[in-house]
Amino acid sequence: MPPDVSADHPDHDPNAEAGPATATFECAACHERRRVALTKGSVGGGTRSDRLALQHHLEYATCPSCGARNAAVVAERARTRTRDRLMFAGGYAALALLAVVVPMIALLPPAYGLLLWALTLRTRWRRRMWLPIVGEAVLFGTMVAWVIEMPRYAYAVPVSVVAMVLWPRSDIDEPFTTATAQLTFGDPLP
Ligand SMILES: [Zn+2]
Repeated sequence: MPPDVSADHPDHDPNAEAGPATATFECAACHERRRVALTKGSVGGGTRSDRLALQHHLEYATCPSCGARNAAVVAERARTRTRDRLMFAGGYAALALLAVVVPMIALLPPAYGLLLWALTLRTRWRRRMWLPIVGEAVLFGTMVAWVIEMPRYAYAVPVSVVAMVLWPRSDIDEPFTTATAQLTFGDPLP
C-alpha cells in the first residue's frame, strides 16, 4: 500500500518553494510557448528533485501543438542507440570467434541470461509474467543444451545474439513517451 502523503504532511522540505515546479516550454519548430508542470504534481511545493525531473523531461518533450521534438536531442539519442547496438554486437561477434576455438565460451551469454532470469524470478512471478519466465527459460536452456550437445557449432549461440541485436526494429520511443506522460502543458502563452 502506498504511504499516505496528505497535503498537510508535517515535513517541510528545505528546498521547497511555494507552488509546484513549473517551467516555460518553447517549441523550436512552431515557437509556441506554454507553461508546463509535472503530471504527478508535487506534494507541498516544488522540491529540487521535482525541478530536476521537470528539466529532464523537458529535454524529451513533444510539442503539444505541432508534435515536434528537439531535433538535437532526437539525433543524439539515435546516435547513442546505434553506437550501443554496434558495440554490443561487436562484443558478441568476438565471442563467436573465440567459441570456434574454445566452444565452452559460448556458455557465457546463456549463463548470464540465466543469472538475470534467476535474480528477477521472484518479482516476475509475483507479477504473473509467465510468458517471459517460460520463454527465457526455454531460450537459455536451448542455448546451453546446444553448446554441450554440439560444441563444434557452439559459435552459433553468440552469432544468434548478434542477429537479435542487429535485427532492424522500430526505435522504442523511450524516453520521449515517458516525457509525454510526465508533463502537463497549459494553454498557449501570448
Ligand atoms: Zn510546436
